[in-house]
Amino acid sequence: MNPKDLSTYAKNTWCPGCGNFAILTAIKAVISNLIEEGLTQERIVLVSGIGCHAKIVDYINLNSFYSIHGRTVPAAEAIKLANPDVKVICFAGDGDAYGEGLEHLVFAAKRNANITMLIHNNRVYGLTIGQYTPTSPLGFKGRSTPFGTTELPINPLEVMFSCGATYLARGTSHGIDLLKQIFKQAILHKGFSLVDILQVCVTFFNMYEYYDQRVYELKGHNPQDYDSALKKIKEWDYNQDAPIALGAFYKKEIPTFEERFLAGLQGTLSYKSTVSYPESVPFSAADRDTKIKELLKDYI
Ligand code: SF4
Repeated sequence: MNPKDLSTYAKNTWCPGCGNFAILTAIKAVISNLIEEGLTQERIVLVSGIGCHAKIVDYINLNSFYSIHGRTVPAAEAIKLANPDVKVICFAGDGDAYGEGLEHLVFAAKRNANITMLIHNNRVYGLTIGQYTPTSPLGFKGRSTPFGTTELPINPLEVMFSCGATYLARGTSHGIDLLKQIFKQAILHKGFSLVDILQVCVTFFNMYEYYDQRVYELKGHNPQDYDSALKKIKEWDYNQDAPIALGAFYKKEIPTFEERFLAGLQGTLSYKSTVSYPESVPFSAADRDTKIKELLKDYI
């Protein structure tokens, strides 16, 4: 399949030179490749948040859902739970995912929801013309901080790593080949995958030169090695000048949220605690429904 076959009639309104173009090119190439390999178009659902990034779903001819700001994750998790057969790919901005939506992201990583998060991390609110976000560096001057921010940025990969994300990678909008590689890995990963994309906003925070001088591709790194993944993730804190590693930092396979949730409903759960904590609600599976009704009787 030619990636052009995924195009739509929608007029593209991103600024010329915006890093979103690279993400669009890469994801269309990856999706067309996956379709050639047997994934049907009907089994792909795109979800977007609110922001410049969100228009991407208008430019790809696939089923999609525009969520509200910060709420890509619950929409994606619901789609995946309702139909575990589909691949759910979420696009979100840094303000969207790491600001308003961070609590959803934390729980999706913690429970290993089988969804893919592609974060357009331009480190500025572009659509609302230039306010600082959770990943803007200290001293960033924008519309809401004309004298510079006084806050340190978060390292989103470190946050996600500590929450239990099972696939983590970073790319830039100046490296389409690497984006294609990690997008495909992330989509095929069984579990929660997140790619932090250093997507340059040419209009409000042009970081092309800054990144080009510092990025390098991870070579000889074992993404299954927890300690070396953490070391590489912490090498750059999104604030100080430091080498910026690109590629897959971490990968681990464990049962997904859908598998455990659906197995729990069917009473076939095999992924259980091995620690003998006392049960907070001690009752057997057999009388579960009666007991739950009893507990909730004052509320329903
Ligand atoms: Fe891209 Fe920035 Fe323009 Fe938005 S404002 S379209 S992020 S360059």
